Amino acid sequence: MKIEPNTVVHIDMDAYFAQVEQLSNPGLRGKPVIVGFHGRRGVVASASYEARKYGVKAGMPAFMVDRLCPDAIWVYPDNAKYEDMTFRIVEILRPFTPVLEVYSIDEMFMNFGYGEITKSYWESLGRKIKKSVRDGTGLRCTVGIGRNKLQAKVATNRAKPDGLGMILPDEFEEIWGNLDIDELWGVGQRSKAVLERFGIRKVKDVWHYSREYLSHLFGAFGWVLWEMAYGIDRSKWVTVYDDDIPKSVGNSRTLNENITDFGIMKRVLLALCMEVSSRMREKKLEGRGVSIAVRYEDFKTITHQRALPYPVQDFWKIWHFAVELLCEVNPEKPVRLLGVCVWDLCLAESQKFWTEDQKRYKLIEALDDISHKFGKNTVIPAILLSHKNLDKGYRPFPRILV
Ligand SMILES: [Mg+2]
Repeated sequence: MKIEPNTVVHIDMDAYFAQVEQLSNPGLRGKPVIVGFHGRRGVVASASYEARKYGVKAGMPAFMVDRLCPDAIWVYPDNAKYEDMTFRIVEILRPFTPVLEVYSIDEMFMNFGYGEITKSYWESLGRKIKKSVRDGTGLRCTVGIGRNKLQAKVATNRAKPDGLGMILPDEFEEIWGNLDIDELWGVGQRSKAVLERFGIRKVKDVWHYSREYLSHLFGAFGWVLWEMAYGIDRSKWVTVYDDDIPKSVGNSRTLNENITDFGIMKRVLLALCMEVSSRMREKKLEGRGVSIAVRYEDFKTITHQRALPYPVQDFWKIWHFAVELLCEVNPEKPVRLLGVCVWDLCLAESQKFWTEDQKRYKLIEALDDISHKFGKNTVIPAILLSHKNLDKGYRPFPRILV
């Protein structure tokens, strides 16, 4: 097993949205600030450290915050502002190394490649990066350094807030073995409870088990758990620069036969939206505009578009707007091609502001996992399985309808 001893730096902005708000509005400094939607179904997107002292955390529902910290100052999220700031941070980090991954709106990974692992090298690198971010934006971040993304991220989590964490190779075994099992990436409360039943509380408890036995017990998760317990990380690097962001993501399909049935057109749009949305998720993008294209049998093509009140990535929401646009076009002749396009793209939010969104986000994540494992379109909305489609022998996307 080959492990590249790279120098990987993880940057995590401290209480990002709250810090940006406090930076742009001095009246909020030193106060318990919560960025989020303060409604019946609202949740905390980001809480300042002053608010965290009361036990407020990101993801907490608004009613709980009211109980814990009634004096909290709520600020409605201004995504464009945070995103602009992220681009500024990326610009600051870019000269350090070309291998830079924007992991989420407030987290980045940087790879400095093989070699040069000394404590003083890591320390001065970490301090330089922290200082550049602080000088360039006025914001504080925590920096973690390790041999791969997993180790760097754990190093960050141990150093929050405003810290510099390092997991040096010669300290690795000592630090890593003594981590609580849920300090590993992707081990949540549920997995923690299950692992506890097998006597696994610390990472070193995993060392008593073989990889085969763990995967027998927990499937793919067991395999990954074993690797993580030894600090192995196989995650790919997705380097995203702002000029790599495409203008739009679209998909269109010429139909097997011209159609007049509005119900079928809607289904074709849904399949197209799923494809578009999946590509957007891969690239971590969302978009603020949707357009559709309708080509009639005489090849006359109509496009119709709309700017949206909020950015979308979820195929269900894209579909909702696409169907509205289709209603407005109201095709009166047989249609031979349909297309969907999402434009005005930006990097997607890592955090969702409404509990409903969080649920859908989790669902879509689960669907993506299934697609990765068993192939695309293994699970599809039931509407695409309609008898009407099958009876007519109408198969716009064989992999979907077969
Ligand atoms: Mg953060």
